Amino acid sequence: MILSSPSGGGKTTIAQELLKRRIDLGYSVSCTTRSPRAGEIDGTDYFFLTPEEFQAARGRGEFAESADVHGHFYGTLKREVDLVLRSSRHVVMDIDVQGAKQFVEGYPDSVLIFILPPDGQVLLRRLEARGTEDPESMARRLKSAIKELRSVGLYHYVVLNADLDKAVEAVSEIIDAEGAKRARVSGLDKRIEGIVHDLERQLEHIQRSQS
Ligand code: 5GP
Repeated sequence: MILSSPSGGGKTTIAQELLKRRIDLGYSVSCTTRSPRAGEIDGTDYFFLTPEEFQAARGRGEFAESADVHGHFYGTLKREVDLVLRSSRHVVMDIDVQGAKQFVEGYPDSVLIFILPPDGQVLLRRLEARGTEDPESMARRLKSAIKELRSVGLYHYVVLNADLDKAVEAVSEIIDAEGAKRARVSGLDKRIEGIVHDLERQLEHIQRSQS
């Protein structure tokens, strides 16, 4: 499950909340060449790599997708995704639009959710409140935000993030609905056959007692 939104749209907070609430989800920790922000932990928030380390990993084909976002490289490691999938959990990813486009090529079952801020003013306030941006990087983020908003057509779902709790609930409901799609229900044929078998036996029993 891919969550995208313009910077400040709230996708990271939504992803963190979902991971707290649901044990059937796992997070794919991305790699980045940007510096850690205060409080960020290597291996938990991101794997912080040098540009050389990042290029080397890319050369070894370790990324399911990678992109240049706001002047830094970001990438999803195939091994992170596979680790979560092998534990029978859904993978939650917080990646940008370019990454989402690449990722669905390798993982066509992906569910793409766009987190939409209620309006431009809220988005600007959220970005300014971070206080981590110099004017140059703020301008870069605003330009990418405009591009990301215009790419909404790539996404299967749009969730309005005016109220965090409601947005988390909406994404959680999407996960449930997607999990109930026929193609995703594991062992469905066997289950149906088991039920049919029981009914047929009962039917035979009735028919025998009538003849
Ligand atoms: P930030 O630096 O604020 O944590 O993230 C900046 C942007 O990079 C966000 O839009 C975030 O979704 C995106 N991003 C984070 N991880 C990845 C990744 O692995 N791949 C791609 N393509 N984008 C990512």
